[in-house]
This record gives sequence, C-alpha cells and structure tokens, in this order.
Amino acid sequence: MSEAVAETVASRFSELYGAEPDGVWAAPGRVNLIGEHTDYNDGFVMPFALPHTAVAAVSRREDGVLRLHSADVEGGVTELRLDDLAPESDKNWTAYPAGVVWALREAGHAVTGADIHLSSTVPSGAGLSSSAALEVVVALALNDLYALGLRGWQLARLCQRAENVYVGAPVGIMDQTASACCEQGHALFLDTRDLSQKQIPFDLAAEGMRLLVVDTQVKHSHSEGEYGKRRAGCEKGAALLGVNALRDIAYDDLDAALARLGDEEEVRHLVRHVVTEDERVERVVSLLESGDDTRSIGPILVEGHASLRDDFRISCPELDLVVDTALTSGALGARMTGGGFGGSAIVLAEETDVDAITKAITEAFAAAGFKTPRVFEAVPSAGARRVR
Ligand code: ADP
Ligand code: MG
Repeated sequence: MSEAVAETVASRFSELYGAEPDGVWAAPGRVNLIGEHTDYNDGFVMPFALPHTAVAAVSRREDGVLRLHSADVEGGVTELRLDDLAPESDKNWTAYPAGVVWALREAGHAVTGADIHLSSTVPSGAGLSSSAALEVVVALALNDLYALGLRGWQLARLCQRAENVYVGAPVGIMDQTASACCEQGHALFLDTRDLSQKQIPFDLAAEGMRLLVVDTQVKHSHSEGEYGKRRAGCEKGAALLGVNALRDIAYDDLDAALARLGDEEEVRHLVRHVVTEDERVERVVSLLESGDDTRSIGPILVEGHASLRDDFRISCPELDLVVDTALTSGALGARMTGGGFGGSAIVLAEETDVDAITKAITEAFAAAGFKTPRVFEAVPSAGARRVR
C-alpha cells in the first residue's frame, strides 16, 4: 500500500466530513496456504497477508454518532447512533464496521463515536477476506484513537464477534487474526484453540518461486448452506467420538476413530478431512522451519485439494480445473482455498513457469465456457498497521 493511497483516502475523508482525519490505517486480506475448514474444529491454519488492503481514514467523535462511507459502494454517508446498534439489524456493508463498534462497546470499551471513510483493494466475495480487512482496519483505528491497548489477537476476537453476532455470519477466527497479526515475508501458524501463533518464514521470491491466486469469479449460490452442513457434520463427528472438537483426534488414531463411526459415512469423510488437514499443516510448518527447499510443500497442497474435493466435498468444476490445469502445466502444487464452491485457488510455481501456467488456466476456462478468471501474485505482506 503506497503513501499515495493513504493520501487519497485522507483527502476524500476531508471532502466528506469537512476536516482532516485523525489518522489512516490499513488492514490486509489474506489467503490460507494450508489448513482449510480446521478453524471451527479447534485446529491449525496457516494464512498469510495479501498486499491488498482495506484503508480507512478515521476521526474520533464524542457525541455517540457513527458515520460511515465506502469509496467502493454506491451511495452517501450512513449515519448511525451508537445506542441504536443492534445485532442483525443491518443487511448492508455498514454492518461490518458498525459491528466492530458494537463489539467494542459490548466488551466495555468507552468508544463514543467515529467518522470513517474507507477504500479497499481486497476483492470482495472471492474468499480473500475483504470482510475481515474491513473489520480489522476499523478495530485497529479505534484501538489507537481511544488508546484501548488491545493486542492483535484481542482485536481479532472482537472482530469475529462482530461478524458472528452483529452481521450474523458464523465465521471462524482465522481471517481476522491473519489480517491483524500477519508479518511481511511470513505465514502465520495459528492454533485456533488457544490462539497461540508463530511467524513462519515464507519468502518465495528468494527461492525463485511465486504463489498465484486464481479468483474463479464464481460463487455458487448453495455455498452458505453447505458451509453450515459441514460445520454441523464436524460437530456431530466430535460428539460421536466423545471429544470436544475434531482437533482432539490424533492423526495416529485416525483409523480407529473412523472405524468407530460405524455407518456414519458422511461424517466419516468430514472427520478424515479435518484430521488429515491438521497433520498437513504441521508437515508444512516443519518443512518450512527446517529451512528445506520450499518446493517440498507442493505435494502437500495437492493432497489438501484432493481431501477437500473428495472427503469434504466443497470443490467445484472451476476450482478443480484451476488445480488440474496448473499441475499439468508444471506447477509445484495447487489447491482450492477458502470456503469452497467457487472463490479462489492458489498455485505454487517456479517463477519461470508463471506465464505459461496463467495462459493455460485462462485458455482452459475459455474452452470450458467459464468466466475469465482473475490471476494475481500473492506476496506475503504486512498485517494491519497505522499508515498516517
Ligand atoms: P469475503 O470476506 O470472502 O470477501 P464476505 O461475504 O465475507 O466475502 O464479505 C464481503 C462483504 O464485505 C461485501 O458484501 C460487503 O458487504 C463488505 N465489503 C467488502 N469490501 C468492501 C468495501 N470496500 N466497501 C464496503 N463494503 C465492503
Ligand atoms: Mg469474509
């Protein structure tokens, strides 16, 4: 994010509200390298921050009023009274920032109002967490302006609560933690049970590699219902196996656990994905920490995709086409990322193969009659920060 972007957002704020902002903050979107659908099973995830950010110019107010404006949405300034904020009362984008203010006040923080103008380069609805970027940028700004002294993981928890309760979306803790806590040149190894975290060096360019994000530009309409079914199925699996969460099934005990599930065929597949996925995250972490050639994580990404496609069953023809085409064009690894049924896939490739792989994917999409995908490079970038 450049100084020029902060300048543009600040000057638009001044036009809208008639005064300079108190400051400007930025928070990134993320992609998840490995660890999919593990976050609501108390498991492991490994996201890294994108260079794409939500940027917000913000000023304090003392009169119980919240004013919101987005450069990316048609329409003027929305004005809300803090005392009127109520869960699931707002179906618009304003629910995300208002939800953060609500969650802060619910937690006892004396936030008395704000003027906010924001602008984001995180693609919305592509599985790259534009919503978490929006929440975290607002939370960090208010944390600074009201001197709340909250740490990154605490802000993430409040943002998750905003999205779960105020917006009404049953999301895990990964997206907000990634946006708040990631560091440049690193992936974040996060234990979603206790929120302990570790920065894992992940500098692909130094090793002559690139990581591409391929946004399929589709979102199949049944995705939300299917997400709920998977969550419920995982909870059922944990209950049947007598554990708090599927995280508690050790990889070495997986076969025995699956055998105990009897004729629960559906649940068995879900359990197998979650338990093997946690093990894949641990394998990727140990490979990257050992300083081995990063190329060795490629096959683990491919295993992860197969598990999401065949066991968790949340892939779709577009995501499978990205992965299959990337691999036949020389990619080191590829997998769908995010919730599934559309959204994005990631591709790990030699720098020298990037153009050929991008072309092959674009051509394969055209031949299949799919929408043209958006392909961009994801450089592991900084987490949320004040920029002005
Ligand atoms: P994702 O987080 O994967 O991008 P979500 O459905 O969780 O998808 O969040 C997308 C929603 O976040 C949008 O529908 C919109 O309400 C809000 N949003 C994202 N970016 C912006 C923005 N720049 N301005 C206003 N609202 C935004
Ligand atoms: Mg989201």
